[in-house]
Amino acid sequence: MLLYLLYIVNLQVRLDKSVAFQLYLRDTLKSKKWPWLNRKNANISTTTLKIIRSKYNSEWLNNQKDISISFQKLEGLTESIKNETILNLISNFTKINWKVKKILVFPAICVGGAVFKRKIFLSFEEDYFNYYLSMLIHELIHFNTDSDFQKIHRELKFPNDSNEITTVLLTNKLLVFLNKSVIKKHAMQKFSIDQYKELAGHIKALNRIGKVNNDFKKLILAVDLYLSNHKYKGYYKKYGL
Ligand SMILES: [Zn+2]
Repeated sequence: MLLYLLYIVNLQVRLDKSVAFQLYLRDTLKSKKWPWLNRKNANISTTTLKIIRSKYNSEWLNNQKDISISFQKLEGLTESIKNETILNLISNFTKINWKVKKILVFPAICVGGAVFKRKIFLSFEEDYFNYYLSMLIHELIHFNTDSDFQKIHRELKFPNDSNEITTVLLTNKLLVFLNKSVIKKHAMQKFSIDQYKELAGHIKALNRIGKVNNDFKKLILAVDLYLSNHKYKGYYKKYGL
């Protein structure tokens, strides 16, 4: 237990238009294949890149005010996260040590949040402000578990579905813990049913699995086994992911 508590990770927010463009480019190129995981930015012509870049530049320029508010909110949040040792709690919950010393978070033009190229991106849109804590915890869990996930990826029948469900279950679990102990009255991240119509009828069972399995690896294996045993068709699978 002590091992998980002693590792100090530095969490910082940066405002960087060109770094945030990396995610925008990925999203724009892959938007036809939502949710576009694991696909490469292949064969992009200079003209296409120019068009995407100029669209991005004007979108960024038109949203200056929201972007800087988002930056300030995230800075305030990461300051409080350091104090509340949420990073240590995450490795206690996942049973995976942080493998990096520094994590950078960027306000970006995107839907919700994402971990891409070992950086965390969160949408600058106002609608998300109340969910920043849960979104950040969710992306931090992805960040913390990513290399372990890659290791067991092939053992899983529904790797991306199981990874997402497991991350949501762990996020909710951590938020329940925080509500009871450290931070009170913050927005809870609900299991995203909208995104997962395929999961209708399975939510209760999955929440139960989340309660009894205490670390990332055990939980993801249990979730994957459940999906395999319940004729689950897969959300990501239909996109070939
Ligand atoms: Zn996720």
